[in-house]
Amino acid sequence: MKYENSAAFTEKMDATDPLSGYRKKFHIPKTKSGEDSIYFCGNSLGLQPITVADALKQELDDWKNLGVEGHFKGKHPWRDYHEFLTQQMAHVVGAKPIEVVVMNNLTVNLHLMMVSFYRPTKTRYKILIESGAFPSDQYAVKSQILFHGFDPATSLVELKTGEDIEALLEREGDSIALILLGGVNYYTGQLFNIEKITQAGHKKGCIVGFDLAHAAGNALLKLHDWDVDFAAWCSYKYLNGGPGCVAGCFVHERFADDASLPRFAGWWGHDKASRFKMGPDFKAIPGAEGWQLSNPSIFGMAPLKASLDIFYEAKMENLRKKSELLTGYLAFLLEGKAEIMTPSAPEQRGCQLSIRTKSKKPYEALTAAGVICDWREPDCIRVAPVPLYNTFMDVYRFSKIFAEAA
Ligand SMILES: *Cc1c(COP(=O)(O)O)cnc(C)c1O
Repeated sequence: MKYENSAAFTEKMDATDPLSGYRKKFHIPKTKSGEDSIYFCGNSLGLQPITVADALKQELDDWKNLGVEGHFKGKHPWRDYHEFLTQQMAHVVGAKPIEVVVMNNLTVNLHLMMVSFYRPTKTRYKILIESGAFPSDQYAVKSQILFHGFDPATSLVELKTGEDIEALLEREGDSIALILLGGVNYYTGQLFNIEKITQAGHKKGCIVGFDLAHAAGNALLKLHDWDVDFAAWCSYKYLNGGPGCVAGCFVHERFADDASLPRFAGWWGHDKASRFKMGPDFKAIPGAEGWQLSNPSIFGMAPLKASLDIFYEAKMENLRKKSELLTGYLAFLLEGKAEIMTPSAPEQRGCQLSIRTKSKKPYEALTAAGVICDWREPDCIRVAPVPLYNTFMDVYRFSKIFAEAA
């Protein structure tokens, strides 16, 4: 794409954008003067789809009118509610329906996955994470290591930014039990080569899982084909499920019926045909659903269903195509004006660019001008133009405001 730094070019990009109609499906926060703000924070909390209010009202009405019978007689019977999200969620991460379930929250799912997939032995006990991993992931991983009686000081290995993972695995792979990386690093915006890492890990006999908090609904994923062992992600960032919304979890089909995997069990993961017989012996539902514990919050899932229906209609391939253009345009407009720490190759990033600044001043000026983006200590402004609801004009206007603020 040959970009131009002009309003006319920007208008042409928006006019010819096949996904431009999707912006209307979202509530765009307003500035003090009542205009649409430039919302570049979908990496932190995605915007609310217009359809969410009705989706929630439907469930409130079913509860009001049916009481407990809503489990079976509601418009979307609550007993099966999570199933109404599976196909769309599978599409988002490139999985088969049997490999995906919507349940719990992200850190909870990471723990559940590690219970099954982090099985340290005397010789193979380490976990590999990326340096600068999200704090919750670091806490979760360290606590799992401690739980198994190992020492994080010797059992936690960090992949440094830019370090060659194959060389690291060559060196230490035989002692690594689990590789658990972010699909996209939350701070730098770097998108890892999930397929290559999975292959390299498997070659060394490691289990390979991913935290896809910043990748789901952002990068084009093919978890099944890439042979990833497990993954977990939240749904309130790019997936627009709303604050603290229920999360997603992937377990590769290879493990669908694997009774040898230990797991923490609960009744919602029990065989559906006999769940309500209330028997004492756990029999897992084949696939990711078998990792469910509790009956889930319908008021968490209703907004997520509304949002995933939009993803399913728009299709990840199309969203990714626009995303590359949109973020590519932002990178073009900032060239020479900002220090960008996110890799410049499109295949090594999602929609987010992380801009390093000398002080917090530019961020404050952006905020004052009606841009909603975020600041990460010590020196980083994260901006994420999202293909579903951001426009090329958002990017263009941002670049002008930034140039003045910097
Ligand atoms: C957002 C995020 C989390 C948050 O965890 P929750 O359990 O949803 O609160 C964890 N890890 C990563 C990598 C994230 O980006």
